[in-house]
Amino acid sequence: VLRLIADRLSGLIRDGELIGRTGDDEFALLAPVATLADSAAPAHGEPSPLPTALRRARELVEQLRVPMEVAGVRLSIEVTVGVAVERAGQCEVGELLRRASLATTRARELGVTVGTYDSGQDASSTDRLALLADLQDAFAADDQIMLHLQPAVDLVTSEPTGVEALVRWRHPRRGYLSPAEFLPAVERSELLIPFTRRVLDLALAAAADWTANGIDVPVSVNVSARSLTDPTFPAQVTEALRRHRTPASRLVLEITESVAVSEQEIVDEVLARLRSSGVQVSLDDFGTGFSSLASVTRMPVDEIKIDRSFVDEMIDSAAAGAVVRGAVELGARLGVRVVAEGIETIEQRAALIALGCPSAQGYHFCKPMPADKIVQALSQ
Ligand code: C2E
Ligand code: CA
Ligand code: CA
Ligand code: CA
Repeated sequence: VLRLIADRLSGLIRDGELIGRTGDDEFALLAPVATLADSAAPAHGEPSPLPTALRRARELVEQLRVPMEVAGVRLSIEVTVGVAVERAGQCEVGELLRRASLATTRARELGVTVGTYDSGQDASSTDRLALLADLQDAFAADDQIMLHLQPAVDLVTSEPTGVEALVRWRHPRRGYLSPAEFLPAVERSELLIPFTRRVLDLALAAAADWTANGIDVPVSVNVSARSLTDPTFPAQVTEALRRHRTPASRLVLEITESVAVSEQEIVDEVLARLRSSGVQVSLDDFGTGFSSLASVTRMPVDEIKIDRSFVDEMIDSAAAGAVVRGAVELGARLGVRVVAEGIETIEQRAALIALGCPSAQGYHFCKPMPADKIVQALSQ
């Protein structure tokens, strides 16, 4: 059914609009105001963004609601839409998506079909400032920002093929914070650069420790989309590699492609510079949102990581299985490594092997663990 909804939605978008899947049954539509405006909008002056966006949202809701027939069954779709508008470069795509998602939640709570983003509703903004002040202190302390490490393994031999660094913040008052709790604030602040530096330092130090123990697998570090629009980012990476005397080939940067089209040129350049310095690039969350086939064909990568949601649904859903199979075939054809994420069961493992998937990562093999435990896990 989701597939049908996605197809219907794809059929409704206009030139210049972008659509992506952002959750199990959630889609995001990104539209420049110019595209939103139609003949119904006032002809003079610049179209006013919010009313125009609301009009477009209502139009889509009407079109999506038209019942459809599936195998003789009549289905109608319930839709809730959250609208967020960006004015004059005020916020980035990630923030815009977050606001739209907040608006959707609010609409659902209010029982309305179309909701809008209200900054007063966004309680996290004061919280965010407090968190950022604490983060300054966290950089000074040396045991607050830490990594948990999770290997990926070869599905046939069970040998580790790489290890991913997942950041944790041991907050003095709030306890362990997951990246979801603090990364959005960091990504929108000046602290992103020192934060990324700390994560790279920790990851490369961990890799040096494995080398000392005779284990030579690469370390994967997750990169915020915003770093990819920072022209100084490749130099920051090269500097970190130099500090740790680590060859570039030992580092994999995991990226998700969720940047605006207008920034694509700079992202392409940053990625090209990174790859020519020998760093490997991995396309994370493959199959979701903006990370898809189009990204792989447009920019060269060394690895793709199939999003956990497909592994989750693979056994029951032919469509999810087809995405996995497609990724495996694409990888083989392009000579790109393929890793499936979030394997929790032996059935999922067997299904991946049957599909020819070369490697995988997930609780079934190994949970993320502190740096001092990983060497032992890798040597087993
Ligand atoms: P991701 O890169 O997709 O990472 C995979 C997430 O799934 C991790 O959550 C991991 O702990 C979790 N996971 C691994 N195996 C399984 C499994 O079998 N089942 C389930 N249910 N979950 C599994 P975590 O550590 O909370 O990280 C969330 C996200 O935060 C990451 O998603 C990544 O996008 C981001 N992130 C983590 N560390 C960093 C970092 O240092 N920098 C940046 N920019 N982002 C980071
Ligand atoms: Ca990742
Ligand atoms: Ca992922
Ligand atoms: Ca993710």
